Amino acid sequence: MRITMIGSGYVGLVSGACFSDFGHDVICVDKDQSKIDALHAGRMPIFEPGLDQLVASNVAAGRLTFTTDLASAVADADAIFIAVGTPSRRGDGHADLSYVFAATEEIAAAVTGPTVVVTKSTVPVGTGDRVEAILREKRPDIDVAVVSNPEFLREGAAIGDFKRPDRIVIGTEDERAKQVMRDVYRPLYLNESPILFVGRRTSELIKYAANAFLATKITFINEIADLCEAVGADVQDVSRGIGLDNRIGKKFLHAGPGYGGSCFPKDTLALLKTAEDYDTPVHIVEAVVKVNDSRKRAMGRKVLHALGDNPRGKTVALLGLTFKPNTDDMRDAPSLAIATALADAGVTVRTHDPEGMAPAKAMMPDLVYCTDAYDAAEGADAVVIVTEWDAYRALDLARLKRVMAGPVMVDLRNVYQRADVEQAGFAYTAVGR
Ligand code: NAD
Repeated sequence: MRITMIGSGYVGLVSGACFSDFGHDVICVDKDQSKIDALHAGRMPIFEPGLDQLVASNVAAGRLTFTTDLASAVADADAIFIAVGTPSRRGDGHADLSYVFAATEEIAAAVTGPTVVVTKSTVPVGTGDRVEAILREKRPDIDVAVVSNPEFLREGAAIGDFKRPDRIVIGTEDERAKQVMRDVYRPLYLNESPILFVGRRTSELIKYAANAFLATKITFINEIADLCEAVGADVQDVSRGIGLDNRIGKKFLHAGPGYGGSCFPKDTLALLKTAEDYDTPVHIVEAVVKVNDSRKRAMGRKVLHALGDNPRGKTVALLGLTFKPNTDDMRDAPSLAIATALADAGVTVRTHDPEGMAPAKAMMPDLVYCTDAYDAAEGADAVVIVTEWDAYRALDLARLKRVMAGPVMVDLRNVYQRADVEQAGFAYTAVGR
């Protein structure tokens, strides 16, 4: 099949590369010339484990190409995927659909024959109707079906998630479009990934409901962690104790600094706005958003508290900046709020992240960027584990203590055992333990 992917970011590039690996002919489009130039030069514009090899082998096989020229890329496509960003709209928290509609207008101007337009971007209920209306108005001469096909991959494990998804959700009532989508996903379908055909609006809502549920699970265990701290219980044991119940499940029950990233914060907010528009409040999600927002500030206070009575003038080493390990994505990362809280209190922040330092520098130019964890800890009064990269899971605590000014560790991911850290001579603060 000939597939065009519009938007070559975290979702578009991974999806495009995986579709080409299944044997489809894929053109990935992006309007950002620097991304396309990098791809032509064999460099990945994002960090995602395994992506460079996957892209290289499919480019070499002639199945995967890149362009900034949307018109030529959509002309003969069997399926055109829209995978552009849908960030929070400044000011009100609705999903900003301007990139989706701009891409739709460009598609409308360029399609030459019957095709299927698929929104892979996370879009609020009813967006497919609006995309279809634009296409019908601009191109009444062409048979175009509009399908919703939300993406559930996780950054850092994106290729595995895309190739072995728990399910594939397809929202359309159009029989021709269903057949095209079956053909697109046939390799996975044969791998027994269940394919769910639902209405388009239902499909759009499934994505938001999934993200809101996961954000709720994280926020739930974070509040239980606070309660554990107050009553002298251990949240990791509570997690295990409830997670072994199959009705609950053990995933997404790790207490930490609050959820961040490019999806949960904006998608929970957008769901609230949809619920408001339809006068059907979703109180649980409202509470989740509120609790998570205040948690990020609370984590800043937790670090300040660990520094003692007068943190001004002290130095903290923040280890890990990205919102999770194995990505370079800094969007809405908890580190942003924590670093701001520390800087506001007059604390100097030294930091290291294996992949996120370039994007972090653009967002937080005033931090001191270091070569590794030990360099960051040089002269620091406290070391804070913000993101649980493998590189920070087995630090040489004696070496760390030698270079630090004060032996304090704040472990916001509960990576370490209290006894080990205390035995190494550190004062140890964790989350919910
Ligand atoms: P991204 O910002 O990494 O990529 C979007 C890309 O689209 C950018 O490179 C941008 O230059 C390009 N673009 C915008 N308008 C364009 C146009 N008219 N023509 C060509 N290119 C254009 O975003 P992302 O993280 O890949 O997210 C894309 C969508 O997928 C969002 O709706 C997001 O919510 C959803 N999603 C993301 C994830 C994730 O983990 N990142 C997971 C599931 C779903």
